[in-house]
Order: sequence, then structure tokens, then C-alpha cells
Amino acid sequence: MDFNLETNEKGNLTMGGIDVHELADQYQTPLYVIEEDRIKSNYKRLYNAFSSHYNDFKMYYACKANTNLSIMRILEKEGSGIDAVSPGEIYTSLLAGFDPSKILYTGNNVTDNELKFAVESGVKINLDSISQLKRLSNIPEAQGMDISFRVNPMVGAGHHDHCITGGPLSKFGIMEEEAVEVYKMAKNLGFNPVGIHTHIGSGILDPEPFKLAVNVLMDIAGKLSEYADVVFDFIDFGGGIGIPYTPEESVLDVNDFGEKITDLYKDKLDEYGLGKPTMCIEPGRYIVGDAAVLLTRVNTIKQSYRKFAGVDAGFNTLLRPTMYGSYHHIVVADKPFAESVQKIDIAGDVCESGDLFARDRSMPNVGEGDILAILNAGAYSFSMASQYNSRPRPAEILVSNGQSDIIRERETFSDVLAKQNVPMRLLR
Ligand SMILES: *Cc1c(COP(=O)(O)O)cnc(C)c1O
Repeated sequence: MDFNLETNEKGNLTMGGIDVHELADQYQTPLYVIEEDRIKSNYKRLYNAFSSHYNDFKMYYACKANTNLSIMRILEKEGSGIDAVSPGEIYTSLLAGFDPSKILYTGNNVTDNELKFAVESGVKINLDSISQLKRLSNIPEAQGMDISFRVNPMVGAGHHDHCITGGPLSKFGIMEEEAVEVYKMAKNLGFNPVGIHTHIGSGILDPEPFKLAVNVLMDIAGKLSEYADVVFDFIDFGGGIGIPYTPEESVLDVNDFGEKITDLYKDKLDEYGLGKPTMCIEPGRYIVGDAAVLLTRVNTIKQSYRKFAGVDAGFNTLLRPTMYGSYHHIVVADKPFAESVQKIDIAGDVCESGDLFARDRSMPNVGEGDILAILNAGAYSFSMASQYNSRPRPAEILVSNGQSDIIRERETFSDVLAKQNVPMRLLR
């Protein structure tokens, strides 16, 4: 995997046709740089891989991967729907121009107020528990709604334990064994249960667990049709399609994947006489993950017990390496293809020992002042950023065809302090 890096005549890394050094000088570091065209091509590639085999197909962008309004506008224009997991994401999606009918809300451990917010927003609601169903039935405006349920197919997969969302340890969804009961209960409460949903995990590059989950979910749908007379409008297999983060991994062949999944889908629809419901998936990482880099400047080279390159970003800026032990490929922006000559730790600026982007990473020569590009920083990167250590969160820049636009300004110290109040008695 070569990560599709592009360079200019100087050999410098470019994004959207612009030398990243220029971007670093103009907008300062740390800086998220996002390529518009990459988002569009990722969307189209995945959409075509499925819709060419089954045309009643929809994609709901899982916006928790990246909720920047401009990114959501790009996807709205592409025709995407939204997978929202919180009221804040519903609010953001509506603001980004998505029609409520194109937003599927899959909450987890939601409050009554959050359910009410979702009902009033007019979005589609995917329920995670019997408790939620009962509480939804207490909301007068929810009477007779179309709803769906998230089911745990007892299949899980993902790049880290924290990212496995199906199987016996997962907190998500209702059990297969109770599905018939729950759908019947929904009907008795006056709802229209027209959908079924699962999402087994994140960062999946192997089609097998996904296929297994599709199999199981379709068997459950068959049972629901037979024993609870459910007529499905849609069947949703969630997201989880991975991207290569290490040079050793290779991309998932989505055309082959799309064909295999849709074939399986069609076979199962026939087997159970389920008609032709809309097939849905909810990709997040696949759409935006490889569309961005995080630019960070080396400020310190230190040889202590180990050799460190200290940079001006940290786990407050990009949490994945610390949170999941994730590998992010890192290149020196003025020589992205240079041979490695050393092993070095790349360390952030947060006061925590766990604040490392890479340990013992094979790297070319790195010097103070160099710009590093941390690759694949489009998904679960800014959206997980924090202000820990009272550090303002960085800017986000959208690039396309030689043009750059600020789509989120760098925060200031006063942004970090916003909303704090000191009681009068402490001011005297
Ligand atoms: C996070 C999430 C997704 C997207 O996962 P990716 O790995 O980014 O594709 C899809 N559906 C639900 C319900 C999610 O919580």
C-alpha cells in the first residue's frame, strides 16, 4: 500500500495540488488538511460497488467519523444519507441540509429527552433496546411511527476490542432470541416496525465477518417475516469497512465485496420471500479516513534513553494511537518516499507518557522544523479531539484543485475557557 501520496516538482507532499509546507506556513500547525475530491471518489466507488448489483441501495454516512459541516455538505450533494448516533449529530445533519427522512438515528442508552428530540426532528429512529421501545411509546407524537431495531447478530469484528460492536460482550442491540417478541411488541404498541439493522464493528478489511453478519441478519429478517409478519422497507448492515493504515495492509476490493454482499442479500430475500427492501450500509471511516492528513511540526529532537522527535500535536489532536494503539503512517513532508535510516519515537506535546504517535518507527532523517504528515487522519481524528492540557483544537482546511478554504478555525485560549463561571465568592 503506497497511500496514494502526491508530490510536486520539489518532491514535497501535496494535498489538493498544494504543497503542504505552504499550508503549514499559511494556517500554522497542527493542521488537519482534507481533500474534497478524495471524499467524493470514496463515496462514489463504494456506492457503485453495491448499487450496480442492487439498485435500491442507500448509504448513510456515519457522521461521528467527521462532523465538519463542509464535509457533510459534500456528502449531502453526493446524495448520501446520515447515520446519527446522538441528538447533536441530528442537529448538525439538519444544519448541513440533510432532509430528516435521510437521517437514521441509532442511539445507545438514550434518555427520554433525546428520544423526544429525535421524534420532533422527524428523523428515522432505530431502537437499541426494549426499554427504548416502551419509552418511545409514551411520546404522543411517536404514535404509529416507522421504526427499526438494531440486532446483535453475535458476530463481531474490528481493529481493536473497543471497536467490536457485535457478539456476546457488546452493549449494542437486542438479542436474536428476543427479536420476534420485540417486533410483535412494537406492533402491539401501534408502531410500524419496517426496518432491521446491525453494525458489527469498525476497521474491517476482511469480508468474512461482514458476510457472516449479513447471513445471520437475513435469517433473523426471515424469521421476523414468518413469525411476526414484518414487511421490511429496509435492511441495514451498518458500517465498519476498513482502510489500510499500515503499508502492509491492502485495500478492500469493494467491487468484489459489493457483489458478494448483494448476491447473498438477493439470495436471502428470495429464500424468505422478503420482496425488495432497500439495502443500506453506513460507512464512516471508508468515506473520510484517507481523505485527510494531520500536519505537525517537529520542534524538538532529543536523545535521552531513546531518540525522540517531539511534535506540536498530541493525543488531544489525534487520539487513535493512544486510545487504540492504532498505527498511523507518518511521512516527512519534504521527502515522503525517503528510505528509513533510523528508529525513532514520535512524541506529542501532552504531558502524559502515553502521548506517542509512534514508538520505534522506521523513519528517514528528521530535523527540528520539519513538517510531518500523519496519514489517514480523516476519520475519528478531529471528532475525537479534545482541549486537554488547555490546548485549543486545531484548524481544518479543505483543499481542492489548488484551492484551500478554512472550514474550521483554530480555537483560541478564550474558546478553551468559554462557558466557565467563577462564583462571586471566589472573586473577592
Ligand atoms: C460508528 C458507526 C458506523 C460507522 O463505522 P465505520 O467503521 O466508521 O464505518 C456505522 N453505524 C453505526 C451505528 C455506528 O455506530
